[in-house]
Amino acid sequence: MKDQNTRTAPVAAYVDSGDVVNFIGGRLQPASGGRKQDVFNPSTGQVARQVALSTHDDVKAAVAAAKAAAQAWADTPPVRRARIMSRFLRLMNDNVDAMAAMITAEHGKVFTDAQGEVARGIDVIEFACGIPQLLKGDYTEQVANGIDNWTLRQPLGVVAGITPFNFPCMVPCWMFPVAIAAGNTFILKPSERDPSVSLFMARLFQEAGLPDGVFNVIQGDKAVVDALLEHADVAALSFVGSTPIAQYIYERGAHFGKRVQALGGAKNHMVILPDADIERTVDALVGAAYGSAGERCMAISVAVMVGDVGKKIMPALAERARSLNIKDGMNLDAEMGPVVSREALQRIESYIALGVEQGAELLVDGRGYKVAGHEDGFYVGGTLFDKVTPDMKIYKEEIFGPVLACVHVDDLGAAIDLVNRHEFGNGVSCFTSDGHAAREFSRRIQVGMVGVNVPIPVPMSWHGFGGWKRSLFGDTHAYGEEGVRFYTKQKSIMQRWPENIAKGNEFIMPTM
Ligand code: NAD
Repeated sequence: MKDQNTRTAPVAAYVDSGDVVNFIGGRLQPASGGRKQDVFNPSTGQVARQVALSTHDDVKAAVAAAKAAAQAWADTPPVRRARIMSRFLRLMNDNVDAMAAMITAEHGKVFTDAQGEVARGIDVIEFACGIPQLLKGDYTEQVANGIDNWTLRQPLGVVAGITPFNFPCMVPCWMFPVAIAAGNTFILKPSERDPSVSLFMARLFQEAGLPDGVFNVIQGDKAVVDALLEHADVAALSFVGSTPIAQYIYERGAHFGKRVQALGGAKNHMVILPDADIERTVDALVGAAYGSAGERCMAISVAVMVGDVGKKIMPALAERARSLNIKDGMNLDAEMGPVVSREALQRIESYIALGVEQGAELLVDGRGYKVAGHEDGFYVGGTLFDKVTPDMKIYKEEIFGPVLACVHVDDLGAAIDLVNRHEFGNGVSCFTSDGHAAREFSRRIQVGMVGVNVPIPVPMSWHGFGGWKRSLFGDTHAYGEEGVRFYTKQKSIMQRWPENIAKGNEFIMPTM
């Protein structure tokens, strides 16, 4: 019988030592300034390749390419745009494993989780294939004698997306398929920590028949983001990342008159009522807290134990946190891989120290975790704190690592108040077998995405994704019909084709 510990992914580990460059006007292009940044393999802790850090001039070139392609693409009938999107969809489906290996190599998440990420990105591409239906307007006949009025939605022009490291395929897919299907041209600025998959998608889209300049990728850091914010020809910006940067982009974007949607950080709570199914709840909690090493914006980082449910949950939870299978993500039985960078590792370990210092009870300590053969990898073990209180930093701040904080409250009302007082409002879940309690919870909770007996309630592609409070700056959620609205502007047309035009000027306000 094959040893379970040696099962590896169905594709080879991704290795490419060449520089990650830009994709502008349908061509791979090096950046102009010569600045570069290391891209690591988090499992080995070694530099795998370098990514170009582009300049103002590179941004100008990308915007010029996108602007040059914009009119022809906007004039392309939606059904033809949808056909190109369908071919892209097929190519993405054919390359799931190749992209998953790329993600595991640069992000560190386990291969099966990376496959899931690509699949959720593909969901949005599939949604964007329905763009002719999504762009249909409203029409009212005979709003006055001989006059009809209708509304339609037109693309904005050149739009840009700035994305985080934790979903290098899925989060860009929340943006560019919808924007491009709606008739815009797009510039993607991926995270500099795991940039390779963005270029891979650009090549697939080109192979699907997308005209040059419609989808461009520009690598870089703050300098690129600032140049995009300031460029007069960029009509709108979508951002996903941490809250301070989301707020900065929202404010700067507004200053320059752009439409902005900026999704920020999170501290997602799971509220566990005394009547919850214990075994299922523990299973769900372990996956939601430690999956992808807690580097998901929808990860559960706080468990709220209501009444005496903690007595039943805590021992099982501690046991599971202690026995997580943590290893290189290409190993198929790995439950958790490394975190993305050495800085992330240090930040997470310093939060654990702070939790102890501020009086929380550390039941499982993930600091100093080592994986045999990967001693320099950025590994942190699953970490579990009990008796956490709302004044502690490990409760208030986003740690973005495999650290679960457990809080105890007396009843459902106290749990709802606790969640509602938190500055973030991205996701939340409630585990219970009481339908009325679940309904009350869903109605009263001040959070954008709610799960009932579902730990990570990421909405499907046609529903749209977005948090409340300081987890989202802007009015519209990502993808779904909200995404279509974000990437288009409404025009209302009123038209009359009179047989007999009344002679003379009309000076009075027209009334219906
Ligand atoms: P980040 O904010 O550090 O970076 C996000 C993007 O902004 C990157 O492309 C980066 O190059 C750029 N950037 C970084 N610093 C900048 C600056 N000073 N000025 C301009 N641009 C800058 O986020 P990250 O570490 O890559 O991702 C993790 C964060 O993203 C977490 O806070 C997580 O909660 C959040 N996130 C939120 C969602 C959501 O839907 N709300 C989804 C995924 C991730």
